[in-house]
Amino acid sequence: MLPKPDSIAAIATAPGRGGIGVVRISGLGLDTLAVKLLGKKPAPRYAQFSSFLDAEGQAIDQGIALFFPAPHSFTGEDVLELQGHGGPAVIQLLLQRCLELGARLAQPGEFTQRAFLNDKLDLAQAESVADLIDATSSQAARSAMRSLQGDFSRVIHQLVEKLVELRMLVEAMLDFPEEEIHEPDLAQRNARLEALTMELKKVLQLAQQGSLLREGAHIVLAGRPNVGKSSLLNSLSGEEVALVSEIPGTTRDVIRQAIQIEGVPFHILDTAGLRASQDVVEQMGMARTRSTLQKADAILVLLDAAIGILPEDSKILEDLPPGIPRLFVHNKIDLAGLPGRISQSEEECHVYLSAKTGAGLVLLREKLLELAGWQREEGVFMARERHIRALLAAQNHLLRAADEIAQPEIFAEELRLTQEQLGAITGEFTADDLLGEIFSRFCIGK
Ligand code: GDP
Repeated sequence: MLPKPDSIAAIATAPGRGGIGVVRISGLGLDTLAVKLLGKKPAPRYAQFSSFLDAEGQAIDQGIALFFPAPHSFTGEDVLELQGHGGPAVIQLLLQRCLELGARLAQPGEFTQRAFLNDKLDLAQAESVADLIDATSSQAARSAMRSLQGDFSRVIHQLVEKLVELRMLVEAMLDFPEEEIHEPDLAQRNARLEALTMELKKVLQLAQQGSLLREGAHIVLAGRPNVGKSSLLNSLSGEEVALVSEIPGTTRDVIRQAIQIEGVPFHILDTAGLRASQDVVEQMGMARTRSTLQKADAILVLLDAAIGILPEDSKILEDLPPGIPRLFVHNKIDLAGLPGRISQSEEECHVYLSAKTGAGLVLLREKLLELAGWQREEGVFMARERHIRALLAAQNHLLRAADEIAQPEIFAEELRLTQEQLGAITGEFTADDLLGEIFSRFCIGK
């Protein structure tokens, strides 16, 4: 896929009113457009105060024009940035003028796509541009920035380099019969394979942490009506989102609330009370609850510490889908006169707390981080589900290679497939339709 030769324009600042608004244009040969718009050719990389002119030579607005001639720009093409006043009407007029002068409206992510196609960024870096913009916590923003600066791409390249060295060694061995291969070469092959496997594992771990910062964990609150699910959700989030009431069955629908614990996003789902009901609306709520449960990373089973476990609770426990980690939360310890604590055995974990007083809540937050897999590691880089899948596939090929080490052809082929997966992360082996998919999720103007 080659970059399109046409010029693209878009408003790069957020919609609405603001102190300044930026229109950005990228393309080849923007000189003519710039002269018509500004009255003269702008000096490269110089902040030029200028009027932005309409077809009659009247000023639409005035502000700063910045011209970055190719290839020294974000996209690698000529880029003209116009910083005008941030009013919706005036900035639209400026954009319209750019379109009148031959530019076309940019697609979402098209500036970054051009930067990728012109080798200004690799694919993992391009994705981190969108991740940085979308980051909802300072941790997520920092890790996206790390990826944008190329930290993630660098470790992938280092893995690929080591893999290529191993492949060279292995391919050379293919030309010789088994008995003619020197022992030191075999030892070197084994050592390299082992080192590579270890490093890939570490990279996967850091990427999984980054992915967690981006995607967050999905936690479901389950328990019978009136046990305190909505209250717990409220005290975890610090906001009143769910309707709290003393009448059982108040929570009829699934309520989602995004909270952060140490910068890790948690999507908490408060569920309709799981109980036998004749009420049609309530039954619908319960059907939705069951489908939500299947997709959760963990289920918080709420129990009443003051009342103990009722047959209704046991019924809910029986109905929970197997295989999803469970955490038992005994709420209302203030009524039971108990202190906040956590009791953990190999099979089960029980947290005692009060959603009302907040006692024991810190223990639950800590446990949730653990369940989500957060490890407080240094140097986490933002990674996406796509990257994790590629790293896992690479790891599988590498493990298969190790299994087939006695069969040099298969061994070599598995190493080649490992490299292909790693290459997909930085965009070396990525299909065009995937690129379209990735960039279409950006905002316009980026
Ligand atoms: P849900 O039906 O499971 O969502 O339960 P709610 O959150 O609506 O709570 C039911 C009732 O229990 C409300 O009156 C809450 O104020 C009360 N409640 C919830 N948690 C606690 C707690 O930790 N201590 C005390 N004393 N009351 C609580």
